[in-house]
Amino acid sequence: ASYLNRETINHSSEPCGLCLKPSPMCQFVLRVQKGTIGVDFTKSTCARLSKFSYGPASTPFQANPCGNVPVKCSHCPKGSSAVWRYNLDAHYRAKHSPALPLPELAITNFEIEGLKVLWDNRHTANRMEVRRRKRHKPHFVISEAH
Ligand SMILES: [Zn+2]
Ligand SMILES: [Zn+2]
Repeated sequence: ASYLNRETINHSSEPCGLCLKPSPMCQFVLRVQKGTIGVDFTKSTCARLSKFSYGPASTPFQANPCGNVPVKCSHCPKGSSAVWRYNLDAHYRAKHSPALPLPELAITNFEIEGLKVLWDNRHTANRMEVRRRKRHKPHFVISEAH
């Protein structure tokens, strides 16, 4: 979705990530089905809703490389519309408190898993080297025998 350019979007209006209408125009309701987070199409309202897809949970990055997905704001009351991730910052400042840190929920669980996998793949070589070096110099824990 190359039309989503972070530089040109006014996030204070919390534009919809699909059609770019300001916040209250579109409602996104999330639901978890069989352990996979997704949009509840029956409760969400957006003219371009049919174009939206979270994609298979196993490939969140490939399915949605731009990473702008509706996420649940942990400070909004239950049942509120989800907030587009790119708008979370502006949403927090406007609706909650500028002092509040962004919630962990901004990144959904399967994406954290995805990040871990990416990180692991990237650093496997380094880690193996460290492990090999450690084996040469074993680290003994001195027992607390008094
Ligand atoms: Zn919309
Ligand atoms: Zn909120």
